Amino acid sequence: MRIDIVTLFPEVALAPLSDSIIQRARDAGLVEVAAHQLRDWSEDKHRRVDDTPCGGGQGMVLQPGPIFAAVEALRRPDTRVILMTPQGRPFLQETARRFASEGHLLILCGHYEGVDHRVVEALVDEEVSIGDYVLTNGAIAAAVVCDAVIRLLPGALGDARSSEEESFSDPTRLEAPAYTRPVDFRGLKVPEVLLSGNHAKIREWKEEQSIERTRSNRPDLLA
Ligand code: SAM
Repeated sequence: MRIDIVTLFPEVALAPLSDSIIQRARDAGLVEVAAHQLRDWSEDKHRRVDDTPCGGGQGMVLQPGPIFAAVEALRRPDTRVILMTPQGRPFLQETARRFASEGHLLILCGHYEGVDHRVVEALVDEEVSIGDYVLTNGAIAAAVVCDAVIRLLPGALGDARSSEEESFSDPTRLEAPAYTRPVDFRGLKVPEVLLSGNHAKIREWKEEQSIERTRSNRPDLLA
């Protein structure tokens, strides 16, 4: 798989993808990731990529020219063009799973007031939001998407079961709580059942706890 990110802040987008599990996946050749400076496609002598909004209003809007040029330079026959925007469809675990089966993701990041809407009309396959809040630019949002996608690639996690038995594997459930040693920490004890060696009972306990945790923190998922 290959992922290209087009942004005004390539270093911000790449920093979270340059360590630990994700860097190891990159080193192992499971994914190639590149972040590109949008200004490299500006034809302006000051490398400008934005202008004031037509019809008035505050802030600046990213112009279509540099973004069209970037997509035309980077697009392949199997490319899916993703725009990071708070106006997009929510990015969920099932979106991450779907993206992980693509050959090439080309992720466009906005800044200021966002991007000229002709980009959405003519270039973008999918608009994606990482949540109902507004970030200053799309670089961090792109890194979030890449992290969630790359860890799902076969071979990225030490144990493939980690991504099969976790929160949202079943979209209506959070994972059960986890404990490790010491079994008694300052009088706080690991639940007996997890030390029993009885796998049927442990499974049953995890199922109950998973429902309980979902009910407590994310009742919207159970509904
Ligand atoms: N004016 C836009 C609006 O109200 O919808 C917000 C623009 S935001 C300040 C600048 C850029 O940050 C967006 O173009 C997008 O790339 C990125 N961004 C901000 N919040 C985001 C979110 N929740 N999910 C994905 N991208 C986001």
